[in-house]
Formats: sequence, C-alpha cells, structure tokens
Amino acid sequence: MGYWVFVGLVLVGGVIALVLPRYRLKKAINAPFPDEWVAIVERNIAVYNNLPVPLRLQLRKLIKQFLHQKSFSGAGGLEITDEIRVTIAAEACMLLLNRRTGVYPALRYIIIYPTTFVVDRGQAGSDGIVNEGRKALLGESWSSGKVILAWDNVLHGSRNFVDGQNVVLHEFAHQLDSESGSTNGAPILAGKSCLRTWAVTLSEEFEELQRDAWKGRKSLIDHYGATNPAEFFAVATETFFEKPKQMAKYHAELFEVLRNYYRIDPTDWSNVTGVVRERESVRAQDLKSDQ
Ligand SMILES: [Zn+2]
Repeated sequence: MGYWVFVGLVLVGGVIALVLPRYRLKKAINAPFPDEWVAIVERNIAVYNNLPVPLRLQLRKLIKQFLHQKSFSGAGGLEITDEIRVTIAAEACMLLLNRRTGVYPALRYIIIYPTTFVVDRGQAGSDGIVNEGRKALLGESWSSGKVILAWDNVLHGSRNFVDGQNVVLHEFAHQLDSESGSTNGAPILAGKSCLRTWAVTLSEEFEELQRDAWKGRKSLIDHYGATNPAEFFAVATETFFEKPKQMAKYHAELFEVLRNYYRIDPTDWSNVTGVVRERESVRAQDLKSDQ
C-alpha cells in the first residue's frame, strides 16, 4: 500500500511539475500589459509608435513572456528597475516578431552594468563565447544562457533607432545565431535552399565588408562586422533594423535574405526622426484588447 501511495505521489508531483510552469506562463502572457510599461516602451523605444498595431500587440505579448522567463540582475551597483527590464525585453523581442519561434529558450540570465564594463579576458575562443574582443565592452552574449549589457548604451541605442548601432539587437542576434548549436553567422534556417541562399549572400557581403575595412573604405555596415561571420550577422541585423532603406538600396540581396529570416520589413516603419517621437494618434486604449 505504501508503495502505491508513493508511486501516486511521484506521478502527481510529475504532472504538477509539467503543468504548473505552462499555467504560470499562460497567466503571465494573458495578464494586462501595465500602463507603466506602455509609458516605458513609448518613451524608450524610438520605433515603437511607428509599428503597425498588430506588431505592437505581438511585441507586448513577447515582452510579457520574456519578462516572465528571464532573470535580470544588476552589476557594478546598478539596481534593476522596470524601465531596464521592459526596455531590454522590448528590443530583444523585436527580433522575434512574426516568427514561429521560442523566446530565446536557452537564455536564462541578463546581467546589466550601468555603463561600459571591463572583462579580464582575451579574444573569443571556440568555447561558445562571443566576446566583442575588447577589454571594455558594451555587451556580450554567451551561448550558455547569458547576455551582459551596459545600460547607458542600451538606452542610447533604443532611443536612437537610425544610427545603425544597437547593442541589444546585436547581442540577441548572437543568441539567435547560437540556437543552431554553433555561433557562426548561420542561425536556424527554414530549409536547404534557404541555407544555400543565406551562405552565398552572407559570404559575399562579408568578404566585401572585409575588403572595405581593409582599404579603409566607408560602408553602410559597420566595419566591426568584418571581424568574423558571427559578428557580420549581428552587425547586419543592426543595419537591417536601423537603416533598412539604405540596406534595401545598396545591399538588396542581403536585405532580402534578412527580410525573409526576420519576417518583417522595417522600411514600412522606418520614417523615424532618429530619436524618441511624440506619441502618435493610436492611444493606449486602442491596444487594450491585447492585454
Ligand atoms: Zn558581437
């Protein structure tokens, strides 16, 4: 009798362990998106008010899931606030809009420094770490489930969505890249033909950027992308989101490949003036139906 009671308890415990996290996640996603969070995204995400309403609604749900599942901690004396959490979640989730994908399933921790942080480490190795290769860093992505960011740079990047520099988009592109099992500039792609097109286009563009960097020629894509294919994908992602019209014009094939991958077209909402805009006609109550 005691044996069967024990087995029963184990089974019940197993079912609870399986069901409870899903229940909690569903509850978090279905909870109202707080007005304070709306104010934060409107204040800090320069492009937010330009997004079509369906994308804003998607983004809100993704933010809620992201904040439910990821753990934030401050370093260097920084105290974590909702502004920090929501701003980072919003930017990170921009990369997931319209895509049938998990919300960075391997990512657990986000560590935030107030400003540039210094690491006592050499160049990146083959151990899954994408190190920006400098001692003073703005961000760092680990395939072992961790992203580290400098808050002042995060905020600057989110409020200026036209300069092609965005540390959150950059580091979370590395996270997507690492989901394929190797951080090498090739994230998980839909099929063989997709992979072939990706490889050909990104290789050509990467080599062109290397030549530009080598000769000191100005380029739309930041020369840092010439470091290696993983950095190229991360830097190209920043350019795709922040300078889509220029990329569509001067790097049409690359733009098309990234548009197919990210399943959005930022040229649709890229008439941003460069900094956080005034609130638009679509008010918070228009989005209440999301919640
Ligand atoms: Zn990088």
